[in-house]
Amino acid sequence: MSFQSLGLSDALLKAISKKGYTTPSPIQEKAIPPVLEGKDVLASAQTGTGKTAGFTLPLLHLLSENPKAKYRPIRALILTPTRELAAQVYANVREYSEFLNLRSAVIFGGVNQKPQAATLRQGIDVLVATPGRLLDLQNQGIVSLKRVEIFVLDEADRMLDMGFLRDIERVIKSMPEKRQNLMFSATFSKDIKKLAHGILNHPVQVEATPENTTVDAITQKVYRVAKGLKTGLIIKLISEGNWKQVLVFTRTKHGANRLTEKMMKSGITAAAIHGNKSQGARTKALSGFKSGRVRVLVATDIAARGLDIPLLPHVINFELPNISEDYVHRIGRTGRAGASGEALSLVSADETSFLRGIEKLIEMKLPVQIIEGFEPDPNASTAPIKQGQGRQQRSPRNNSNNSNRNSNKKNNSRRPKRNSDRRN
Ligand code: AMP
Repeated sequence: MSFQSLGLSDALLKAISKKGYTTPSPIQEKAIPPVLEGKDVLASAQTGTGKTAGFTLPLLHLLSENPKAKYRPIRALILTPTRELAAQVYANVREYSEFLNLRSAVIFGGVNQKPQAATLRQGIDVLVATPGRLLDLQNQGIVSLKRVEIFVLDEADRMLDMGFLRDIERVIKSMPEKRQNLMFSATFSKDIKKLAHGILNHPVQVEATPENTTVDAITQKVYRVAKGLKTGLIIKLISEGNWKQVLVFTRTKHGANRLTEKMMKSGITAAAIHGNKSQGARTKALSGFKSGRVRVLVATDIAARGLDIPLLPHVINFELPNISEDYVHRIGRTGRAGASGEALSLVSADETSFLRGIEKLIEMKLPVQIIEGFEPDPNASTAPIKQGQGRQQRSPRNNSNNSNRNSNKKNNSRRPKRNSDRRN
């Protein structure tokens, strides 16, 4: 299958070849034709599958085929749960529309609204937005969605996890009833199905499982270690292994900060990325990591979700996630596309039940190693860490754009009950 045979315009094919893509990914193969036919689509796909191009390419094709008024009302709205994802989707829209006469913009919270408002006033065809800022600007009369022809709801499951249902409903009410709808979600809970039922009109259903979550392709190992010795052990592993690009997961924002500071003190360049960091700080941390200036990126699940981080040789779980599926998503950051990857987990006694839950989910026992000098504490309690312990309170609404949840699940039927008190 080629991009040409999917029926995309020459201008789009040129942009695709500039990006270096040669063949469509499975989700692109499945989603692009029905979107081009004007149908509603319900797609099961997560980050890493090429889903963004799966909806962006046909969307741009449809808009450019049928140019409209000169003043450029917003004709396509792409709603995403987080600003990182919004920025990434927007970057893709820009690249794919390079040879088209279409204008696009992105709006999200946490930054000054003035430049966003100024761009919108000039008229744009495609808007990528997070719900909070979109509704703010709509209330101020800066955004009108009355001419939207195509609506994309990206990462719908995470939208619901983050408490955006009411916001989504409000956005939908402000658009014309007759429009094309595309909905992407990694999981399909009852709530998602209900949402899909309310939004989509006889949708074509497509599905793609990401290549990067095949657990078998990744070497996994558990280091049993006393809680207080974890920092020493991670520094030893990174320094002695001379690892250059390591993604480390912690459960909390404070944990991420603390670990980053300790790494820096021991001479390892590190940066933290989580919901309390400003947009600028997050962008800087990510670009430093991508360019190799920063050796270690310490992230919470929510901050890492949706990040376009290329193939990584090492992922370390400084702490195990309490949601087993988050483990699968974390380690899916390594061993992509057949490249070798290693996922290590530092596990203390109080994480034993998390480890068991993960092993049950991935249906394998993880090999355990103990490093001399970093032994587990034989007297430590195996009682699980209490949720919310030592964490910050957060309100779902205030948190709308500066945090996201890792809910990138492959199999919803195995998804544990969520703890509403869980924080990242
Ligand atoms: P996404 O799932 O949309 O976040 O995309 C994941 C990554 O795959 C991004 O870095 C895209 O640039 C890349 N990508 C998307 N489509 C293709 C393709 N057909 N061939 C190669 N890479 C792709």
